[in-house]
Amino acid sequence: MNTLKETQGKMSHDSHYMFTCKQQRSPVWVPGPIIVGAGPSGLAVAACLKDQGVPSVVIERSNCIASLWQLKTYDRLRLHLPKKFCELPLMPFPEDYPTYPNKQQFVEYLEAYAKRFGINPVLNSRVERAEYDESVGMWRVWSVGMKGEVVEYVCRWLVVATGENAEEVVPEIEGMVEFGGEMKHTSEYKNGSVYKGKKVLVVGCGNSGMEVCLDLCNHNAKPSLVVRDAVSILFPSSTIHKFLF
Ligand SMILES: Cc1cc2nc3c(=O)[nH]c(=O)nc-3n(C[C@H](O)[C@H](O)[C@H](O)COP(=O)(O)OP(=O)(O)OC[C@H]3O[C@@H](n4cnc5c(N)ncnc54)[C@H](O)[C@@H]3O)c2cc1C
Repeated sequence: MNTLKETQGKMSHDSHYMFTCKQQRSPVWVPGPIIVGAGPSGLAVAACLKDQGVPSVVIERSNCIASLWQLKTYDRLRLHLPKKFCELPLMPFPEDYPTYPNKQQFVEYLEAYAKRFGINPVLNSRVERAEYDESVGMWRVWSVGMKGEVVEYVCRWLVVATGENAEEVVPEIEGMVEFGGEMKHTSEYKNGSVYKGKKVLVVGCGNSGMEVCLDLCNHNAKPSLVVRDAVSILFPSSTIHKFLF
């Protein structure tokens, strides 16, 4: 990990660092698209291509598929949308799954999906750079592994499936630096057991903020929720909820 950080640090000062120092092998030719990211989107693209007889290579920076769901979500998470809106192409959810599958069920479904379509991502490999070489009509894609090893791929098509929630965003809030207490982003929150009896301020009241608050209450913590603007809540029994879902 340190070597990876060192490589990234050096690259931020010298964009040609990885090309001059670390590349160990000759470029790997991929006879189909490279897909960056092994989340649900990357898996779905790989499966649909496979279904049409097109091979692909999926490159994932984490050590597992669906890393957002496996590594960066809280224990009590269920799909926020009914399962019919969340299933991937070509393979429905198991019939005995509830309307809102829990995190474990969703991950098991994604693992079964990857297995069914023979998707074996290159794990622990972060894509750092991609360039389209117009002279040959090919993409050159460089990834960096855990030990700082650089692999160059050459392919005709590049699919970026790196997600919209994969990077945590922590806004700058006045007083944050002086505040002496613990602060964490929801991606690091697992459950409220360690907050029993403590006062916790939850900033943001989207799905995650509200659910974390409920979890804190269930663990006998004392949460407060900061709401920036008006809040709309759709109760499952409401007409509009029934209309939408
Ligand atoms: C708490 C929570 C609840 C949610 N509930 C629902 C729901 O009920 N229904 C729903 O449809 N969606 C839900 N979402 C939205 C969520 O974004 C999707 O479920 C889904 O994970 C999106 O899939 P994705 O493949 O587009 O992105 P991601 O799951 O984010 O996957 C992107 C992948 O790309 C990898 N990656 C990123 N950069 C690189 C790089 N440079 N090199 C290599 N790999 C890289 C990441 O490690 C990650 O594995 C929820 C999200 C959260 C956080």
